[in-house]
Amino acid sequence: MALSDVLDRIRKAEARAGRPAGSVRLVAVSKQQPIARIRAVLEEGHRLFGENRVQEAADKWPELRSAFPGTEVHLIGPLQTNKARQAVELFEAIHSLDRPRLARRLADLLQERGTSPTLFVQVNTGEEPQKAGVLPADADAFIETCRKMELPVVGLMCIPPVNEEPSLHFALLAKIARRNGLECLSMGMSGDFEKAIAFGATHVRVGSAIFGPREVPAR
Ligand SMILES: *Cc1c(COP(=O)(O)O)cnc(C)c1O
Repeated sequence: MALSDVLDRIRKAEARAGRPAGSVRLVAVSKQQPIARIRAVLEEGHRLFGENRVQEAADKWPELRSAFPGTEVHLIGPLQTNKARQAVELFEAIHSLDRPRLARRLADLLQERGTSPTLFVQVNTGEEPQKAGVLPADADAFIETCRKMELPVVGLMCIPPVNEEPSLHFALLAKIARRNGLECLSMGMSGDFEKAIAFGATHVRVGSAIFGPREVPAR
């Protein structure tokens, strides 16, 4: 099945990069997928998923989580500040921390709740105006701001521009992470996850290669 193929390709890419087996985690991106397909992947034993909308995750994951203990769900899409509370209650990790106001809100929620999802700072490596993420030139200062707020930032995330060679973007993200002492790199999707692994990805976000084309229209 597609899940085992993707896992196999990940293990091979780790080996080619001289990285330990299991050093890359597969975030199975289940957004806009029929529940039956998600259940099939859970039945196969996979327990880490990615969603890009808070409401969609709130609608489907509570029930799936209780049926499949040990399941982790990560938010990989943009987070509006007014949905931050719901997000920290729903997700084990948020890959899209990208602005001071959101950092402030997450820090307040951490104070209040005593716990926070682990966080990735999203970097707009292609400097695309329509895309979320801090600009590469602002990344170091923003990471420092988050650290002063005691936010649990573990790594960086990027989505390379669609029509560009992704390697340059993966290399840039790895470089920013290295100089800031961050261990995790969320990069690589269905079309380029093996390349991302060669550049040090620790979390690859793969949707259609596992589940097939997305069917439920975006809300
Ligand atoms: C949808 C999505 C993915 C997965 O895309 P595929 O091409 O289906 O693998 C990865 N990352 C983000 C941020 C996404 O929104």
